[in-house]
Amino acid sequence: MYSDDCIFCKIAQRKISSDIIYEDDQVVAFKDIQPLAPVHLLVIPKNHLSSVNEVTSEYEGLIGHLFGVIRRLAQEFGVAETGYRVVTNTGADGGQVVGHLHFHLLGGQALEAKIG
Ligand code: IMP
Repeated sequence: MYSDDCIFCKIAQRKISSDIIYEDDQVVAFKDIQPLAPVHLLVIPKNHLSSVNEVTSEYEGLIGHLFGVIRRLAQEFGVAETGYRVVTNTGADGGQVVGHLHFHLLGGQALEAKIG
């Protein structure tokens, strides 16, 4: 389930400190250490998947559950009505730095309408 050299696996196991704001048996959410918006959360599966490239159909339930967590966090952090962005960077060209599947939840201000 966990990978030894993965920083987000260590966060999920609470081996390194982070500002965890939600946890259940499948998912952990914590505040991004370098926030790019007033609300910048990271939502991850506990199970180590490197990126979207590993999200096969066997993880449909997990991903559906994870998006339910994102929806509820958006409400809890007050951005559900004003709007927010969910971003998943994949691979080098996608700007992925941490090799553990994660979803950025960004909001709390008008975000630039730009891709890339
Ligand atoms: P990526 O570019 O999509 O891989 O984003 C990785 C994100 O993880 C960046 O926004 C970092 O600021 C964030 N990050 C890296 N290390 C930590 C940490 O220890 N705690 C919280 N966020 C982190």
